[in-house]
Amino acid sequence: MSYPRKQFAQHWLRSPTALNQIVKAAQLSTDDHLLEIGPGTGILTERLLTLAQTVLAVEIDRDLCKKLVQKFGKRDNFLLLQGDILTLRLEDYLQDFSQFQNPNKVVANIPYNITGPILEKLLGNIAQPNPQPYDLMVLLVQKEVAQRLCAGPGSRTFGALSVRVQYLAKCEFICDVPSKAFYPPPKVDSAVVRLRPRSIEHPAESPKHLEMAVKLGFASKRKMLRNNLQSVIDRDQLTQILEQLKVNPQARAEDLSVEQWVSLSNQLVHLTS
Ligand code: SAH
Repeated sequence: MSYPRKQFAQHWLRSPTALNQIVKAAQLSTDDHLLEIGPGTGILTERLLTLAQTVLAVEIDRDLCKKLVQKFGKRDNFLLLQGDILTLRLEDYLQDFSQFQNPNKVVANIPYNITGPILEKLLGNIAQPNPQPYDLMVLLVQKEVAQRLCAGPGSRTFGALSVRVQYLAKCEFICDVPSKAFYPPPKVDSAVVRLRPRSIEHPAESPKHLEMAVKLGFASKRKMLRNNLQSVIDRDQLTQILEQLKVNPQARAEDLSVEQWVSLSNQLVHLTS
């Protein structure tokens, strides 16, 4: 048995400062029921167990699970499931554990190699938002991803991921976490983000069209939007729509706000149906 295991993107957090920042950002109360993804050796879990009502943890590594059971198994507010967060159907395992059934917050230092799929598992996607969204999610992620999640329109880091996630959740950049806060230090910088899933104020008339527009619109970031979208809409028609939305016809995908993406996709529904 050799640790940490690269295959599971294991980097143990060892900085009390970073742990404090995560816990503070989660605004924990003793009413909270938490989901933790990848508890690892349990350094964050330990704190969560004292601050929240319950912690449901999902860890893929069997050997670590044995250690976690030794460490926390006697606490009745802790439940550990061994498995892959992406494929595990949590509800199948929780019938007999009612107090762990509906966690309201997610707090985790997640494995970076599956950040995108984890976000989709937690939030759903444009076409199928999670019907039971969490109140709040505090995640430690790669800094570059954190910047994309929290970027506003017009910024260089605002991309398809920003639109997809911000359509479903309010995203806040909490703080940087340097690589020396981990053992072994990851090759990339990290950051803490806080996501608050929200009910969508102006839902897209056709989520399918919104997803398609975002996908095509950002396909080639250096090109103007009207060129990226020319396979689905005539350039002149798009120019008209952009003028209506008060967007410069020469705009690139990153210049449109999430609301403007929704309006644009609503116009596309009428033109292409
Ligand atoms: N939270 C710990 C460990 C973070 S490292 C700490 O801060 O120290 C990421 C953790 O996620 C590891 O424990 C790894 O084994 C676990 N992991 C990796 N892939 C996973 C998956 N698909 N499902 C659940 N856990 C996973």
